[in-house]
Amino acid sequence: MQKGTLVVLSGPSGSGKGTLVNEYVHSFDDVFVSISATTRDMREGERHGINYYYMTVEEFLKKRDENGFLEHAEFCGNYYGTPRDNAEKALNEGKDVILEIDVQGAFLVKENYPEAVLVFTMPPSFDILRERLVGRGTESMEVVEKRLERAKDEIKRAPEYDYLIINDTIEKAVKDLRAIFDSEKCEIKNNLDFIKEF
Ligand code: 5GP
Repeated sequence: MQKGTLVVLSGPSGSGKGTLVNEYVHSFDDVFVSISATTRDMREGERHGINYYYMTVEEFLKKRDENGFLEHAEFCGNYYGTPRDNAEKALNEGKDVILEIDVQGAFLVKENYPEAVLVFTMPPSFDILRERLVGRGTESMEVVEKRLERAKDEIKRAPEYDYLIINDTIEKAVKDLRAIFDSEKCEIKNNLDFIKEF
């Protein structure tokens, strides 16, 4: 059986990657979305095993030292990491896996797991990105401007990714992501076992 494909999905805040992942999971059931581990406190409305796996610092560091994360990072005094076991189990069962992580994390995954496919999502234009962030109405203009600056920095790394999805309509973005998974399945390097056995 062919192994699943590991897709790392990044993109600036406001690029719609969360919506894309949700829609994709609703449309296809041969996919596993990785849930990160964190040492930060659970926020109201969050649930263990749904939003994150909440761990103590000791538990996190133990797992890290046992090579239990595909990548990990410290952010605002808390640890975050992508558990290796669930993702590898799903891949070995032939399921595709999506990791929704930032640019830095994406390159760390690629170092640890070179078969990973890096997919970047962008809105159709910078003006639309700005409109989306302002339209959310959840952040002050100052925070919006900060996110836009951060978006520019992230987009500078986009040329190092394997694929780009321009997130114009959600239907098109889901189709594009499916096409990426499908094309990976046809890559010669992912079919060498089949060829040899044949
Ligand atoms: P929050 O605490 O707001 O949920 O997340 C804080 C930051 O941690 C966000 O930028 C989020 O993308 C990042 N983050 C969440 N999970 C992971 C992970 O597994 N690995 C890395 N490197 N960053 C993560």
